Amino acid sequence: MSDNPCLSCGACCAHLRVSFYWTEADDAPGGQVPARLTERVHAHLRCMKGTNEKPPRCIALQGEIGRQVACAIYELRPSPCREFNVLEQDGTPNERCRRLRAQAGLTTQRIS
Ligand code: SF4
Ligand code: SF4
Repeated sequence: MSDNPCLSCGACCAHLRVSFYWTEADDAPGGQVPARLTERVHAHLRCMKGTNEKPPRCIALQGEIGRQVACAIYELRPSPCREFNVLEQDGTPNERCRRLRAQAGLTTQRIS
């Protein structure tokens, strides 16, 4: 796992509002994201606490951005987190990831 650039990054967990349909939270049938770590955006939308702040930082993000990080709810994380990766589904680099890493002072050399 040490070659996973996300483990020494975390930039996307502290730059974007992580919002998702409310039924992903575990107070809805079949939901799994801990509802206590979410907040209401509007009737049908929740977000991870902390990501609607300025500056944003997800409440579930542990560690220091750009050094060593972990997601406290990795197995239960919401869909935006599952869908945002270093690479796009077609295997090409995720340009938004690259930009966020650059803003955090991280290179993209370790991403392949
Ligand atoms: S910005 Fe990219 S490298 Fe950094 S944690 Fe997010 S997906 Fe991983
Ligand atoms: S739930 Fe985990 S992966 Fe998603 S933004 Fe928060 S710390 Fe990052």
